[in-house]
Amino acid sequence: MTFEDPILQLISDEAGKCINCGFCESVCPTFPAVGFNSIYGARGRVDLGNYLLREISEKGKIELRFSDSFYSCLSCNACLQVCPAGVNAGRVSELSRTVIANLDYFNEQNEQQIAKMIVSVTMKYMNPLGVREKCSKWAQDLHFEDGSRTLFYTGNMFQLMPYSTSLGRMKKLLGKKLSQRFAGFISKHPSLIKVAGLSLDKKMKSYMETELRNIVTLLESSGISFSYLGKDEPYPGTFLYDLGYEKEFSEYANRVYSLLKAKGIERLIVADPHTYDLLTSKYPKYVRGFDLEVLYYLDILDTKKFKKSDASTTLHEPCLLTRGGKINNSPSRLLSNLTNLELPKMSGENTSCCGGPDELLYGEIAEKVSQNRFLQLKSVNAQKIVTACPICFANLNKSEEVIELPNLLTSLLNEN
Ligand code: SF4
Ligand code: SF4
Repeated sequence: MTFEDPILQLISDEAGKCINCGFCESVCPTFPAVGFNSIYGARGRVDLGNYLLREISEKGKIELRFSDSFYSCLSCNACLQVCPAGVNAGRVSELSRTVIANLDYFNEQNEQQIAKMIVSVTMKYMNPLGVREKCSKWAQDLHFEDGSRTLFYTGNMFQLMPYSTSLGRMKKLLGKKLSQRFAGFISKHPSLIKVAGLSLDKKMKSYMETELRNIVTLLESSGISFSYLGKDEPYPGTFLYDLGYEKEFSEYANRVYSLLKAKGIERLIVADPHTYDLLTSKYPKYVRGFDLEVLYYLDILDTKKFKKSDASTTLHEPCLLTRGGKINNSPSRLLSNLTNLELPKMSGENTSCCGGPDELLYGEIAEKVSQNRFLQLKSVNAQKIVTACPICFANLNKSEEVIELPNLLTSLLNEN
């Protein structure tokens, strides 16, 4: 099939290669999480991508409600690693979300009111929950080098975790219908998010704030200085891209870039895989002349500052670092140099997702995916299960031995 619309053509090019072998289902984490229902598996998503194209070309519209299948895809790209035909079911899902977002933007019939709420609030407040100012509190007594052209850019990612943990619980409590209605209302009146009284998980807040402070300590002990934007720091727009709101993401990414340039920033030090992937792989495609240097904090640490430990560790490698747009193996490299690292069976480019991207929209799927992954990590029997992403930590934090990498690295800093 050929299409004038470039997005539809991209879906056709990707899904059209499928030979229906089903290998992808063996590694798709959402497939077992929903009791092997095929529309929540990689092959099912490719089939639905082809079906979506047929509906549009034959009827000019989509009648079947596809969105849950595509929105629940974690974009983890595990399926691409095993597909003999080179099909990326995650890409089919991403593109299909873009089609659905374009057709259904602010259409009340669309079930994904939570996605629309996030888009609407992000566009208004440059933060998906309207809590941008609160996201700077972790640093209120720290001193940065004001005016430095090198910026420590958290993207608000660590700080949002305590809210998403709490929102997930609230959604479970309200049930699907009520939470969709609440989200639909906020999507039309985004300023009301400020009076919605969002609660947060205090334990998670304390852990995440400590992690950010640990990262600052690690950078400073390596002799690196930098500025921080505090309450002016914008969210990078990860959800907009992930949820398929491409037009809004494009506008938003350009706003973030202009804001950073206006402050004289030339270089960003980032601390989580999602912001790293977005800024290195997506921003250059959507922001003309994007010229900010993006550094991952682990890559610039002075390894001579650390002492070695006899502790046995295992590592949950983030999908976006091992299969994302820019591969970065710094977590496993550092841990294998400093500790007795044993990777789990599914590791490297075959790492298994923590379920985090489904946390807000499909909490039950996220919970089952994270439980399956936790058991894989636990079976290594290491003293520490290390995560290297705030989203992974929030999902895999199921026992005392789970620890974020900055926390472990800080404990290995030489005292002198
Ligand atoms: S592995 Fe590839 S070819 Fe086989 S069913 Fe999945 S997408 Fe199709
Ligand atoms: S990207 Fe991940 S969740 Fe999505 S279809 Fe592929 S394996 Fe499944």
